[in-house]
Amino acid sequence: MSNQSQQMETDVVVIGGGPSGSTTSTLIAQQGRRVELFEREKFPRFHIGESLIPETYWVLQRLNMLPKMQRSRFVRKYSVQFVNASGKQSAPFYFWDNRPHECSQTWQVVRSEFDKMLLDNAREHGVNVHEETRVLDVLFAGERAVGVRVRSADGYERDVRARVVVDASGQQAMLQNRLKLRVWDPILNKGAIWTYWQGAYRDSGRDEGATMVLQTADRKGWFWYIPLHDDIVSVGVVAPFDHLFKGRGSHEQTYQEEVDRCPAVKQRVSAATRVTGYFATKDYSYRSTATAGDGWVLVGDAWGFLDPLYSSGVLIALKSGQLAADAIVEGLASGDTSAAQLGKWGPAFNSGVDRMRRLVCEYYDGFSFGEFVRRYPELRGAITDLLIGDLFTECRDRVWTPMESLYPPGKQPIPAWFAGTPAEQVPDKRNDLTLPAGRKP
Ligand SMILES: Cc1cc2nc3c(=O)[nH]c(=O)nc-3n(C[C@H](O)[C@H](O)[C@H](O)COP(=O)(O)OP(=O)(O)OC[C@H]3O[C@@H](n4cnc5c(N)ncnc54)[C@H](O)[C@@H]3O)c2cc1C
Repeated sequence: MSNQSQQMETDVVVIGGGPSGSTTSTLIAQQGRRVELFEREKFPRFHIGESLIPETYWVLQRLNMLPKMQRSRFVRKYSVQFVNASGKQSAPFYFWDNRPHECSQTWQVVRSEFDKMLLDNAREHGVNVHEETRVLDVLFAGERAVGVRVRSADGYERDVRARVVVDASGQQAMLQNRLKLRVWDPILNKGAIWTYWQGAYRDSGRDEGATMVLQTADRKGWFWYIPLHDDIVSVGVVAPFDHLFKGRGSHEQTYQEEVDRCPAVKQRVSAATRVTGYFATKDYSYRSTATAGDGWVLVGDAWGFLDPLYSSGVLIALKSGQLAADAIVEGLASGDTSAAQLGKWGPAFNSGVDRMRRLVCEYYDGFSFGEFVRRYPELRGAITDLLIGDLFTECRDRVWTPMESLYPPGKQPIPAWFAGTPAEQVPDKRNDLTLPAGRKP
């Protein structure tokens, strides 16, 4: 059914109700602006991305989410710990030791619950949230975005005019695709397979909620080990796409083979019961060549996706949402919704994400946290700052020269993300998600 007779006008339209969309819309509505948010699913809905990092605290504070997080059942996370290919554990990187403030405690979240809390919070702040309503297209007048066409669950279609359109559609990345802005990262070509265990090993005390990053014995991949509430642990393997998905058996077989290659994980899940099937996704990292245009702006995964090694995705979603919201509120007040105004935060944000990307690439290229802090104990705090997600300041760059001093002879510099391939040159490359049979997205 199609009916475009009814039009609506608003200040801002947000496409997608994940963490980036909820953040952007809430912060704009807090300033008294009208925001319509369209989300194609009915929440709660499944999503991967369960481990938060401490810098999310400051955005959650602005969203008035902290009391809700503190009352929640989410497992408290105080640290991250690395286990190398031979099973040797680094000392945990305790965020609190680096910064003794309540911001140094973060959470391991079940995303269906967390995302619903954020979306409900957006409603409470005055955002008009429309679930089960898909954005079909972004409407343009020349180069300027002027609204969206939406279709609700009953098939009813309408146009919504807006002064600013925020693309928070996640890996769907509506505007990146339409405007051909996506560049695939030249080296971060990974995939992931994961499942959920009940009764798996848990540390105690302040280590109970630690994220563990455990390398496989052949060094080709690594496992995340994320303790959630209700005695569930999320355990996933990440490795080069070809290694995980080419010439291997079912996802279950591949997962089990990788568990066999990681004795520390095998031991931890040996007495546990698997409570779901196997989830799988391609995990190609990408970024957009533009942050904004006239009347539109990108946030979260719709702006870019970085390999999940250091659990930075939700921080990127929240932080970009906050920066975009501030630029939009300012632009609406001054009557300037140009690309320059809406995307003014882009260059510094890109540099911050570059710091996290470099740390990701260095790890895949042989960097050892244990060796680094043994050689440079005075830089333990600086490297923890990066793991916390405190990325958006140049003073974090003091770790790179010491890191380079540990390079083996002949190691090549890491290529920049924009040295990658524009997406339209590889039309079959996509980050498809496979859910266990019978499971709704
Ligand atoms: C394997 C893996 C592991 C990860 N682990 C972590 C982790 O431990 N920690 C972490 O912080 N991050 C992690 N991430 C990253 C994290 O999942 C994302 O970065 C984060 O969800 C981005 O939030 P978002 O709001 O931008 O997008 P999303 O959360 O994907 O939300 C986008 C929303 O837009 C909606 N939408 C899409 N298209 C339309 C449309 N046309 N109309 C209306 N609605 C639409 C979708 O339904 C969705 O609800 C991981 C990612 C992967 C792939």
